[in-house]
Amino acid sequence: MEFSALIARQRAFFLSGQTLDVNGRRQSLRALLEALESNEQILLESLHADLHKSAHDAFASEIGMVAGEIRHALKHLSSWTRAKKIRESWMAWPSSSCVRPEPMGVALIIGPWNYPLQLLLGPLVGAIAAGNCAVVKPSEFAPHTGAAVARLIGDIFPPEFIAVVQGDETTATGLLREKFDTIFFTGSTRVGREVMSAAAKHLTPVTLELGGKCPAIVCADADIEITARRIVWGKFLNAGQTCVAPNHVWVDRRIERELNAAIIKAIGEFFGDDPQRSAAYGRIINRRHFDRLCALIDGAQIEYGGVRDADDLYLAPTIVSRLAEDAPLLAEEIFGPILPLRMFDDLDQVITNERTQQVPLAMYAFTHDRKIQDQLLNEIRSGGACINDTIMHLVGRELPFGGLGESGMGASHGKASFDAFSHRRSIMRRPFKPDPAMRYPPARVGFAAFKRILRFFGAA
Ligand code: NAD
Repeated sequence: MEFSALIARQRAFFLSGQTLDVNGRRQSLRALLEALESNEQILLESLHADLHKSAHDAFASEIGMVAGEIRHALKHLSSWTRAKKIRESWMAWPSSSCVRPEPMGVALIIGPWNYPLQLLLGPLVGAIAAGNCAVVKPSEFAPHTGAAVARLIGDIFPPEFIAVVQGDETTATGLLREKFDTIFFTGSTRVGREVMSAAAKHLTPVTLELGGKCPAIVCADADIEITARRIVWGKFLNAGQTCVAPNHVWVDRRIERELNAAIIKAIGEFFGDDPQRSAAYGRIINRRHFDRLCALIDGAQIEYGGVRDADDLYLAPTIVSRLAEDAPLLAEEIFGPILPLRMFDDLDQVITNERTQQVPLAMYAFTHDRKIQDQLLNEIRSGGACINDTIMHLVGRELPFGGLGESGMGASHGKASFDAFSHRRSIMRRPFKPDPAMRYPPARVGFAAFKRILRFFGAA
């Protein structure tokens, strides 16, 4: 596939300086916002076709999220793009210094299928706000949304500025052979590794938003009804296909029965007796993932749910318990509507276990006890964390959202997205005079005096 011509055109466009004007960036962001609004219906239909998302879910977690990012960027663009004055050491007197955010250049954004609009256009908002050109690659597994995004972008931006390239893994690897100035990838840890190694060949910096097994830990003093509702909401949103969904729940043995019952009650309240008929309940993205999920529960002790319909790619909200330590369900990120409940007698057991796992994208702890909250935050590392709720830590704009270790690097949302696509350029301006001879060789003072002078000026 011939991508070098497209990227050369984008690079020429970038170097022409047309993306730099801050008012121009505002216009582009407004155009994107208007296009989102005028295409709302087609986007809702596409998200429904790809993932059976209800209008409410699709608006809150996709279209509305991107619109919110745009509005936030428009509000803060002046301050984000402004050079920040820096007071430098006396050694450099007289001088004035600043850090100026500058665009990286030509960016590549690769998105996953689970939030196919938000995770593609959200980063794009950061790329445009920061003054970049961008090639955007939607996931092939959400084809309706991918096509709708391609049309929407094609209608408002020339391809030398923003281009959507649709395709599968071959397309993605073809793109990655080219030199970009930054890459923003959202997807699995496995593919994240491949993206980073392809980027290394060109020394291209990467932001990686990856996956992981986010634990939820429920202590005996938690408000059980509310905890259950918040876990069920976070877990079964988009049929469990959410990177920050609680993967598994650790529950204090003393409240296990109560929590189990409260979770089942919440599932009934949210999705009715037959979630397959609920407009609020999603579908598994494709047959490969459906079969993978079914294999994970085959043989497991199902407490609730387990109903499946391959033709409809439907898998009911499912609770499993009493899993063996080496059960496949506990080995990998589930990324579907299956919730393993794991009991604990002692919090140290949870901490010891979680510390042997790869660092997850999020950690959730449910307890009133501030000391226990702090202990869990201190002893279990994660990209982000939310106490007494799930997922809510990423609904705002100014908490950077990102992973750590195997769950990713770099961050997005609000200013963090702008920063992901910016280079912080340090600039110092100096007059020609004064120009004291002392700074140049040969040395004019003894070594001890030289050290004292450097210390005096804060340079040592
Ligand atoms: P994926 O890694 O399979 O695919 C993501 C994108 O990468 C797709 O556009 C795909 O075409 C492309 N791709 C596939 N093979 C590639 C390759 N060899 N080189 C480059 N690109 C390639 O992920 P997915 O199945 O679409 O999404 C699910 C995963 O994404 C889960 O692990 C989930 O946790 C993670 N995720 C993370 C976040 C986050 O913000 N951290 C958000 C959503 C999903």
